[in-house]
This record gives sequence, structure tokens and C-alpha cells, in this order.
Amino acid sequence: MAVSSGTGQVALAVDIGGTKFAAAIVTPDGETVVTKRVSTPQSLDADVLFEALASSIDATLQAAGLSFTDPQLMAGIGVGTAAPLDLNAGTLSPVNIPGWRLFPLRDRLIARYGVPVGMIGDAVAVAIGEHWKGAARGNDNVLGMVVSTGVGGGLILGGRVMPGATGNAGHIGHASVDPVGPVCVCGGIGCLEAIASGLSLAAWARSNGFTGGDGSAVAVADAAARGDEVALAAFRRAGDALGMAIAGAVTLLDLDLVVIGGGVAAAGALLFEPLATAYSRYAALGFATAPRVVPATLGADAGLIGAAAVVLAPDTYWPGGDGPR
Ligand SMILES: [Zn+2]
Repeated sequence: MAVSSGTGQVALAVDIGGTKFAAAIVTPDGETVVTKRVSTPQSLDADVLFEALASSIDATLQAAGLSFTDPQLMAGIGVGTAAPLDLNAGTLSPVNIPGWRLFPLRDRLIARYGVPVGMIGDAVAVAIGEHWKGAARGNDNVLGMVVSTGVGGGLILGGRVMPGATGNAGHIGHASVDPVGPVCVCGGIGCLEAIASGLSLAAWARSNGFTGGDGSAVAVADAAARGDEVALAAFRRAGDALGMAIAGAVTLLDLDLVVIGGGVAAAGALLFEPLATAYSRYAALGFATAPRVVPATLGADAGLIGAAAVVLAPDTYWPGGDGPR
């Protein structure tokens, strides 16, 4: 399909994950019009990984009938990447992509395509997407979270994205909520992610005797919906940890709203009810009891939409605060 120039600039958005690379054309309305996904190569060669990403970008441009040669039409490339990253250096070192360590993705994309490249963490991209076009629209102080295979987050403060010193602000999944909790993949102890992620939730259920389905978080959610006691306890434990962590974040940052997306959050009341109970127990000060915790509304494209916003609405979402470069 060809994208017309009548609607203003569009962006090429990229979502870099350990399982998939996705590239999409995103319009100023936050619509994804062409999306290409490829499996992340299981390669330790940084250039093999980069070529796979570039191929998906090229295929997306071709399918949309676009090129970067028209700056009136293309605002640039917005990248949401699995963390960690270093915003200042433009490098990334995703835990689950071992072939990229301090890989200079921003410079490589600029060298190849010659357009502005904005880079943020994938959970920050989701927070931006929900703030730009989703459940958090109109709120100036927002924690956006993803609860799926892992637990991630991103912050909008004072109406702007808040990247922190190195671009990693919002890593609530690796804030500890249990000093004697399980060891996390990051090396920490009792991290929220080690308790409330889909992988952790399912592992806890299995270690407590759950044998339903394939033993995944989806199977635990299905069993919990049917009243399985261990499955319900797994969601209560995850909801309690989330409520504690969110209460801490809200108290620290004086937020208006917390929005939660991702596969585990899709379990709905199974997760949100114990979360709300825990939240009201741990958030005691008046200002901290007021914010609402709500489900995300943009679904699986939230990260692509947020990555696009970095170049389509740079005054609000460009992480350096100095506009596209
Ligand atoms: Zn951790």
C-alpha cells in the first residue's frame, strides 16, 4: 500500500525484543499501517542481527511505498528496545540478545538511513504510547507498566517522558519487594519481576503443585478463572507484589495514574483485584491513595506506537529533551 502525504509526517517505528524484531509505519493518529515482524536471529554476530533489523525496516518501507528521501513525509526512526540501553551513547545491551553488547544501534541506523533516530526502552515506549494515544492520555504524571514475560515500566512526569540519567528510568520490575525473595535474572533479590512476571508466576504455581495445561502463565490464568486454589494464590501473590511496588512508586513520584498492559495484565480482575487490595494497604498518605491503576488500551502495538511518538511528537517524547538529532 502507498501512504499518502496528506496526513502529515509518518514514522518508521521499531520494536526490538529477544524473540521478535518488529518494524511498522505509524501515522500521526497513532495508527500502525504496515507492520513486519521477523524472528530475532539466534546469532552472536552483531552485524547479522543488524542486517536482520535493517531488512525488516526496508521491507516495511517497500510495502508502504515510502522512502526516507522525503523528509516532508518521514519524520525518522523511533526505536523501542529491550533493556538495558545507554541513551547518551546510543548503545544497547539487551539481556536477552547476547549478540549485542554496547552495540551502537543509533549511529548505525543514522549512518544507513540518514534520518533522526530516537531510542528508548521498550517499556518506556509502551508508557509513551499509552500517554500519547491510550489509557493515560491527558494525565501529566504517569507510570506505564508492562507485565508479561518480564515486568517493565516507563515514566511520564510533568507531561514529558522522563528517561533518567542513562535512559533506564522506570525499571520497576527490578525494584525489590521482598528482602528474602527469589533471586532475579538481573542478580538482585526479591525483584518484582522475580515474583509477578508471567514466567515467575507460573514457576511459583508449578512449585506449589500446579500441573494444569502446559504449566504456562496462560494455563495458570485459565485455571484461576475456574477457581483452582493454587492458580488463584499465584495471582494473589503477583498482585500483592505489584501493589506494593506501585504504592512505592506513587508515593515517591506523586503520580496521577498507573496504566498496566502486557499478557499477564490481560488476566484482568484476577490480577487487578489483589493488586488494588495490596495497593490500598501499602499506599497510606492521602495523595498516594488517590491515583487510579487501570488496564492499558493499545494492546500489542503500544510499543510501536510509543516508539513512533518519539519522532512524531519530539517536544513531549524525545528522551534527550533537545529534539531530533
Ligand atoms: Zn531483577
